[in-house]
Amino acid sequence: MASATIEIGATINVGDLAEKLSVPVTTLIGELFKNGMMITVNETVDFDTAQIIVGELDLDIELISKKDAPDEVIKREKSSIDPNAVERPPVIAVMGHVDHGKTSLLDKIRGGHVADGESGGITQHISAYQIDHTVKGSKDSRRITFLDTPGHEAFAALREHGALLTDLVVIVVAADDGIKPQTLEAIRFAKKAGVKIIVAANKMDKEGANLDRLKGQLSENQLMPEDYGGDIAVMPVSAMTGKGVPELIDMILLSTDVEELKALDKGPATGLVIESRMETGRGPIAVALVEHGELKQGDFLVAGSVYGKARTIHDTNGSKIKTAGPSTPVLISGFKSLPDFGDVFEVVKSEKEAIKIAEKNTAEKDNSGKSSNVSDSELLRIISQKNKLQELNIVVKADVQGSLTSVLDSLKTIGTSEVAVRVVSSGVGAINDSDLYTASTSDAILYGFHVAFPQGLKQTASRDKISVRLYDVIYELLDDATQELSDLLAPEVIEKDLGRLKVKKVFKTTQKEIITGGEVTVGTIAAPAKVKITRDKEVIAEVEATRLQRGPQEVKMVEKGEECGVTISTESKINLQEGDHLEFFTRELKERTL
Ligand code: GDP
Repeated sequence: MASATIEIGATINVGDLAEKLSVPVTTLIGELFKNGMMITVNETVDFDTAQIIVGELDLDIELISKKDAPDEVIKREKSSIDPNAVERPPVIAVMGHVDHGKTSLLDKIRGGHVADGESGGITQHISAYQIDHTVKGSKDSRRITFLDTPGHEAFAALREHGALLTDLVVIVVAADDGIKPQTLEAIRFAKKAGVKIIVAANKMDKEGANLDRLKGQLSENQLMPEDYGGDIAVMPVSAMTGKGVPELIDMILLSTDVEELKALDKGPATGLVIESRMETGRGPIAVALVEHGELKQGDFLVAGSVYGKARTIHDTNGSKIKTAGPSTPVLISGFKSLPDFGDVFEVVKSEKEAIKIAEKNTAEKDNSGKSSNVSDSELLRIISQKNKLQELNIVVKADVQGSLTSVLDSLKTIGTSEVAVRVVSSGVGAINDSDLYTASTSDAILYGFHVAFPQGLKQTASRDKISVRLYDVIYELLDDATQELSDLLAPEVIEKDLGRLKVKKVFKTTQKEIITGGEVTVGTIAAPAKVKITRDKEVIAEVEATRLQRGPQEVKMVEKGEECGVTISTESKINLQEGDHLEFFTRELKERTL
């Protein structure tokens, strides 16, 4: 007899089913896939299918058919499935057109709620953080998690990997500028993902700010403001002065409260990796969002094909913590290598189990031959390097609407998951002052297709170093944009292993330098070279070997079986120990083209 029963209707949306069963949606989709059903998160399955899948997943749950229960009710019920589930903070993604003040608003929200002098400070950019907020008229402080969405692709990955983590999207629009292409993209995105939307009408302190005009524009773009009879809250704010920001946060809480967001805060944690990077002295660091359960220091973890042990957990203010519950963004050290952005992580019982699952996931990845795996890690690399998808900003002007549409449609086809064209503005007619201004402020290339470039403006363009390019043939324009995109591609990183040395003695350790000696156990080591320091197979730091010495003699290379001294240069003090290994390797960058 199953320990829990769950009632569902004749059909159920896959995302809702995952939530009811408290399993990651990816697991569910994976299981459906194994059973020959290519179904996405927003599609529905019937009761029988759901029952089969629950059986296959070996969950201790019995599904009961509630044939006449309308879908609406199922949705409302979704959080109250498990009687042990507790309230969790809402997870909010913030999006908007470039320069409309997304960063300023996030900083203001964070700055106003982070105590001065808190360890770690608030200067370091991080893709997620939490604040405590007290709603006006209430005594209780409430917690909210914010996700900065470096590029909308990142948000897509978050949704796609399905943890259904985002509860609400705040779309930031500058009230003096109104809706722009990226605003529309954000609206489309949030709508497609089926999340609630609040509009933050920013820059209300500016003279040209016009809330009514903005509301009008919103209503023309499927976001009907509340005072127009719709359900979209449009909150006037100024990220600069802070006016309206507390009310915006109140509204976020009010809007998510009706959802009764709940999750289990006990038991092994699962969640999503939202960023990962290598840190000197600390090795691979994953920024992750806990979805269910409790993440504890010392837990064994697996995320995709990478496993590890949560050596340390920090909150996103930089404070060390021992445990983290649902909706908490954390920095985890102790993964053996970098987990992929968008991978689901889970806590397992032992290292052995973690290795087993990681190996299984690696095998699945290798077998699937899907290019999406590649692009995920490519995306991860770009995100960890620069924290955003590389975008080529362009402004397009064309003679007639028809040719403008063809140019824009063609431009859309030349991007990849790493680099993409972002049309900042487009229009019909000769190039004018305002086009130059837009191109200049957004650092964009201005393409003119079959249009005139008035002589008087050429000087302005040349003075302000604005690149204006005129074409009469669409292919030539595309070739040019493709070349520009290629230049943005991050070079390929090629690592080649040289050899390994086992540390037998550490002679000297200072802040910047280590002198050590040991035996080469694999390959041939050389200097200068890059070195990963590993302890119990875990990378603890990446450093440079600057000098090799055999006896008093400096040498260029040392072979397997020989002993030598190594001088290492580091950026911070590392406590190298006997028994550690130095893995020598080279890293080269190779230019790529689209
Ligand atoms: P993002 O590209 O959306 O992240 O925009 P930023 O936060 O970088 O802001 C773009 C510019 O607008 C910066 O120069 C900000 O100082 C300015 N800005 C942002 N919010 C406000 C605001 O509320 N009022 C005014 N006057 N300027 C703002």
